[in-house]
Order: sequence, then C-alpha cells, then structure tokens
Amino acid sequence: MKRTNGLITRFIYNFTQKFTRGQNIVIYTYIMTRGFIDCHCHLSANEFTQDIDNVLLRAKKAGVKALVAVTEGASEFEKVIQLSKTYPGFVFPCFGIHPLQGSGQDLHSVKVQDLEPFLPLFQKYRDYIVAVGEIGLDFTPWFANTAQERDEQIKVFMKQLEISKELDLPVNVHSRSAANVTIATMKELGISQALLHNFAGKPSVAMEGVQAGFYFSFPPAVSKNEQRAKLIKQIPLEHICLETDSPALGTDKHVRNEPGNIMICCEYIAKVKGISSDAVMEVTTQNALRLFSKLKS
Ligand SMILES: [Zn+2]
Ligand SMILES: [Zn+2]
Repeated sequence: MKRTNGLITRFIYNFTQKFTRGQNIVIYTYIMTRGFIDCHCHLSANEFTQDIDNVLLRAKKAGVKALVAVTEGASEFEKVIQLSKTYPGFVFPCFGIHPLQGSGQDLHSVKVQDLEPFLPLFQKYRDYIVAVGEIGLDFTPWFANTAQERDEQIKVFMKQLEISKELDLPVNVHSRSAANVTIATMKELGISQALLHNFAGKPSVAMEGVQAGFYFSFPPAVSKNEQRAKLIKQIPLEHICLETDSPALGTDKHVRNEPGNIMICCEYIAKVKGISSDAVMEVTTQNALRLFSKLKS
C-alpha cells in the first residue's frame, strides 16, 4: 500500500492485519504509531544529570512516545534501571559495554575485563532490559590501532551477542570503521534482531544487513552529511528507525543533543526519500515496535 495515504488508510491497514489477533492490538498500534520512538539515546550520560526531568518533558512535548536508553559502561546500569522505574512505559533500558571505554584523554579500546565482572547483571536484570547495547566495534585507527585491540573488541562484542541470544533480546549496535566485520560477525552468530545505529558503511554492506533482517537508525547529525543521503535512499523504509544518540550527534556538535530533536531525523529521512514526515514517523515507529518487542508490554 502507499504509505502517504495517511492516518485513515494506516488505521484500516492495521485493523485488517491485526484483526485476528484482537482489537486491543489494533487500537494499541494505532495510538503508538502516532508518535516517535527514539531507539538509541544515552539518558544516563553525565550531560543529563542536572535536568533529565526537563529533557524528558521536552521529548514528550515533541511527540516522543518511548525512549530506548543504551549504556556504554557498567557504571550506568543502575542509572538506566532507575530511570525506567521513574518513567515506566516511557524510558526502556538496555545494558551494554561499548567498544570504546573511558572519556576524553582516557578514551581507549574495550578489554575483556571491562565486561566479565558485570555479566551476572545482565542475568539479574533480564526482565527489565529491552535490548543488549550499546555494543559493537569501533576500529577508528587512533583508538584501535593494533590487531590485539581489535581482537579484544571482537571478543567483547561476540560475548554480548551471545548474551542477547541467551536472553532472547535484540541488540543495539555501534559500528565505526568496521562495517564489514560487524555485519559478518552478527550473521555468523545467527543474530536476527538488530539495530545498527548511525551506520556509515557502504550501501552494499548495509544491504547485506537488510537481507539479514537488521534495522538502521540515523541521528540528527546526518542531516548535515550529504554522503549519508545515498545510504538512506537505498535502505528500505521498512528497515529504518529513528534515533538521536543524545547527548551526542546533534546538528551542531558544540550543542548538547536531546531526544526532543527527533523530528530532525524524521524530516531529513522524509526529504531524502521524497515521502511525508508522517509516513516516516508511522513506519519507523512500527519498525521499532517490531524490533524492541518488549516496548509493547
Ligand atoms: Zn555509537
Ligand atoms: Zn550511542
């Protein structure tokens, strides 16, 4: 069906598709698709400590219905769980150890010991978390210069992919300068539920991911990057989600990004694909609900 036909068509479509599964699901899908889902943001980042309540209020006013809050290190685990308890049904937590650890001058490639002591926490909070992330590979030369560093990153990534399978959860994945290895590793381990956030690999590599059933999300910063338009054009809308990656990757790198800016990605994807923002909102939200199935419960 044409996705630009708007709300009534979408409603009828949902109704006919979901009728056999009960009317509640129809109504639920209808309500949820009238809003955005930020599929990748860092609400537990220090940048939000002072004013998280106002940040989330602005997100709500901007039409955000749900936020998938990823972590970079174990020190954030308790914080995202706490946020999800303070904002039930709005903030949905993920646990993950990012391929880069530390910050500023101390930023370095992840090591197995950054993950191992915290493995029991994934089990302990398995009912709370909606995905494993932010995990992945970052082979930016100044962080992962040696084969040993890259191998260690792959070990940490694979271990967390295994955890996601064991817990039957999707993964929220970072991939920089490592597109081929990231997609190949995930396929090798039989991962089927995955979001590749801010993906910047070649369109041909992205299409391999699409074939494997993966989703791709793009933050506001891509609207300033002409090269990414080619990628967005090729990936079918049925495999695209929205993200802000707040507090990073806003349109101005000197200004803190926040989930309330999600409309920027939506409008940019709509412009690149030559369709309405409404269609992008509805389809990306349906995609997000399909991928992060715990958001429905
Ligand atoms: Zn990332
Ligand atoms: Zn991130």
